[in-house]
Amino acid sequence: MNKKVAVEIVKKLTEMYPDAKCSLDFKTPFEMLVAVCLSAQCTDERVNKTTPSIFAQYDTPEDFANAKLEDLEKLVRPCGFYKNKSKNLISAGKTIVSDFDGEVPQTMDELITIPGVGRKSANVIMLEAFDNPQGIAVDTHCKRIANRLGFSKETEPSKIEQDLCRLIPKEYWKDVNHIFIWHGRNLCTSRNPKCSRCKLRKYCNC
Ligand code: SF4
Repeated sequence: MNKKVAVEIVKKLTEMYPDAKCSLDFKTPFEMLVAVCLSAQCTDERVNKTTPSIFAQYDTPEDFANAKLEDLEKLVRPCGFYKNKSKNLISAGKTIVSDFDGEVPQTMDELITIPGVGRKSANVIMLEAFDNPQGIAVDTHCKRIANRLGFSKETEPSKIEQDLCRLIPKEYWKDVNHIFIWHGRNLCTSRNPKCSRCKLRKYCNC
């Protein structure tokens, strides 16, 4: 694929999903960080149903740093993998308090030092909380679509991200973070993609 085709596809996806945006609810960068950590292996809808009761009790890094693991686990449980997620959220609170004066840091390098925050989550936080996209968050939808449409032959998220960022100019990164996910949820599903309704068939490897 060349850059011209990559931009063509991105523009078509933007036409297909003009309202695409982040579907996680949050009010502060720290709430975004918590929501994105909970969203691993869980739907955004379920995260949004779960976070109000969490934030009613724990809403700042200090709150999480001081939380009792078993209390937090009860609240996190509906999102799955609750033991690991709760442990990471407490460690994340402690790290933000000790290393970043209680504020969510605003660089990728700093974000990925926080327990539970990998490159994908850090990309989402930079975009959604700080409106400063630094890359493209490669989740399961993005990975599938990048492979099917020929943006990347790689399977490792970090390599797929490199291919995407090489092909797609930075001005489109913000949109790409949203439209790939929406395309993956709506038409380009893992099983039985709805190719007959897709405007990208001529570009597709499937
Ligand atoms: S043609 Fe089918 S597989 Fe290809 S991008 Fe569209 S929905 Fe996905």
